[in-house]
Amino acid sequence: MDKPSPDTSPLYQTYARAPLAFERGDGVWIETRDGRRFMDLAGGIAVNLLGHAHPHLVAALTAQAEKLWHTSNLFEIPGQTRLAERLTANTFADRAFFTNSGAEALECAIKTARRYQYVSGHPERYRIITFEGAFHGRTLATIAAGGQAKYLEGFGPKVEGFDQLPFGDEAALRQAAAGPEVAAILIEPIQGEGGIREVPAAFLKLIRELCEVNGLLLIYDEVQTGVGRTGRFYAYQHSGVAPDIMASAKGIGGGFPLGVCLATETAAQGMTAGTHGTTYGGNPLAMAVGNAVLDIVLEEGFLDEVCRKALLFKQSLASLADRYPDVIEAIRGEGLLIGLKMRVPNTAMIAALRDSGVLSAPAGDNVVRLLPPLTMTVEEIRTAMERIETAAAGFSVPAERASA
Ligand SMILES: *Cc1c(COP(=O)(O)O)cnc(C)c1O
Repeated sequence: MDKPSPDTSPLYQTYARAPLAFERGDGVWIETRDGRRFMDLAGGIAVNLLGHAHPHLVAALTAQAEKLWHTSNLFEIPGQTRLAERLTANTFADRAFFTNSGAEALECAIKTARRYQYVSGHPERYRIITFEGAFHGRTLATIAAGGQAKYLEGFGPKVEGFDQLPFGDEAALRQAAAGPEVAAILIEPIQGEGGIREVPAAFLKLIRELCEVNGLLLIYDEVQTGVGRTGRFYAYQHSGVAPDIMASAKGIGGGFPLGVCLATETAAQGMTAGTHGTTYGGNPLAMAVGNAVLDIVLEEGFLDEVCRKALLFKQSLASLADRYPDVIEAIRGEGLLIGLKMRVPNTAMIAALRDSGVLSAPAGDNVVRLLPPLTMTVEEIRTAMERIETAAAGFSVPAERASA
């Protein structure tokens, strides 16, 4: 068969990569092999929570690497217990299951909800309600949960049991939640890939009520929003509406592949010995890094500082949007999960930002995502703002020409 692409790389051609290869990083800064420096506000897609090469994380990882890498879950892993204790002490949850990725944390969340219904005498309840614009990962079940045609096409029958509702449609939600086969409602408190779209607290409260009334579990996908990204430990804590099950990943490993499914004692009651497992999940290396991330994020005053810096960043961006209304339509997001809703194509803005030395990430709804490390300094925010302004100015039609 003829090869469809002239690309000589042996890699799958699944990514449209920017032509940059990086060698090293330090905090918000990242450097290519040929010595070009960028401010990294893509953050490995909300992963490098504390920037690159954070000394505390490097020390934790290297110390663990010299002792023990992997034992499997045939044996006890003390780092898991410690990390689970800290996660449950600071959230709604009582139990934790560690994974290597966000999608696997979601798979565990979905299985936990279905098993809960199964062991509580409702094996007919297996359907999961989700929302348009959602992103829950790329496994077969999570592309069904996300429901986006572009991710489902050509991969065979869509995994059964996911019903997608329009974003924010109260009537549709009330009707769907009353369905006799529904097990749970799954939602991101702020849609990340969907374009930094916040779910109003009143809508989350309604979901919670409908879960109570209909015997459903509420699952949050906080893979992108968790671990301080929005200025609270988890984004749901802004609204005070707690879930029964929650998936977390990305930032929790600070760059090391790590995810976790958190659940209440009740919600996790079906997940008994042998019902679920993973070879790598929660291995000693991942636990050393996860605990090191929490050492910093849970430190007294750390999240207050994140909120303070996020406010400065967002006010500066809002003022920029005011000055370039033909380029930036609005600023979205919470904490340091920031979205620029663009009037020019987001891909063009991302390229312009790159040209002025800033890395960013795309999102749906023509949004540019800025995902800075939580450790970014005020001085660095000012430097980033100058560069972002340079990029925005490149699109703007000068006032005298616009009115001519
Ligand atoms: C990134 C993401 C996922 C998938 O995580 P992976 O680690 O890529 O499997 C799921 N949900 C949300 C909200 C995400 O942002």
